[in-house]
Amino acid sequence: MRKKLIAANWKMYKTPDQAREFFRDFLPLVHGHDRDEIVVCPTYLAIDAAIHAVQGSNIAIGAQDLYWEKDGAFTGEVNEKDGAFTGEVNAAMLLAVGVTHVIIGHSERRQYFGETDDTVNLKLKSAVEAGLIPIVCVGEVLEEREAGLTDDVLRRQCLRAFHKVSAKKAVSLVVAYEPVWAIGTGKTATPQMAADAHAIIRAQAAESFGQEFAGKLRILYGGSVKPENARALMSEEEIDGALVGGASLDPKSFAAIVKY
Ligand code: PEP
Repeated sequence: MRKKLIAANWKMYKTPDQAREFFRDFLPLVHGHDRDEIVVCPTYLAIDAAIHAVQGSNIAIGAQDLYWEKDGAFTGEVNEKDGAFTGEVNAAMLLAVGVTHVIIGHSERRQYFGETDDTVNLKLKSAVEAGLIPIVCVGEVLEEREAGLTDDVLRRQCLRAFHKVSAKKAVSLVVAYEPVWAIGTGKTATPQMAADAHAIIRAQAAESFGQEFAGKLRILYGGSVKPENARALMSEEEIDGALVGGASLDPKSFAAIVKY
């Protein structure tokens, strides 16, 4: 069956020292835990510290974003456009430091940094081309849910994210269903609401990539996951793990979620 994946999104929190401190306390709490995959996504600046801290453990490190353009310096084919993207980091650079996963299209990036379904698609293509494991976030805002548009929004976001991505390249794809009204608000979707949304996403994945692919696709739930609600959510067959923001910042709380 699908192995669950529990991912931490640290957002704009933790310096390299704070990341080291987190892992010093967290590693013993999850030592030997192999029922679920564990991924932690720090800021770019704390990635190196995190990668060194988790060496030899069962924890993978992801980035919170990437840019889709190439940097010719990696291929020796520099041209004047390559790499001229101030402030950005691409897939090859992430791989070069040992990153394995990348969050794409988080609702905060869509809301505050102008990400669209089209940029999500470009990012997804560059991640799978490079061999990074993408965690693509989709989810409706409150007004859309209240207007009965959840189904349409999820289908549109998935359809456009998956546009011209080959099933072969996307084998490692992970989708995170994150209802925007539940992120950082303390409001959680009920396990049933999440399971229903996951079924819509899986149906769209079946249309885009085929039934077999969709059956293997891992769909995480994100939105105010905490130690108190993790077990009920993870008990749903449709829910293949969690993307955790606030509650992943504290080692005890994130370990309790991992061990739901
Ligand atoms: C997130 O940042 O992806 C998230 C789900 O945040 P929180 O757990 O704080 O709601």
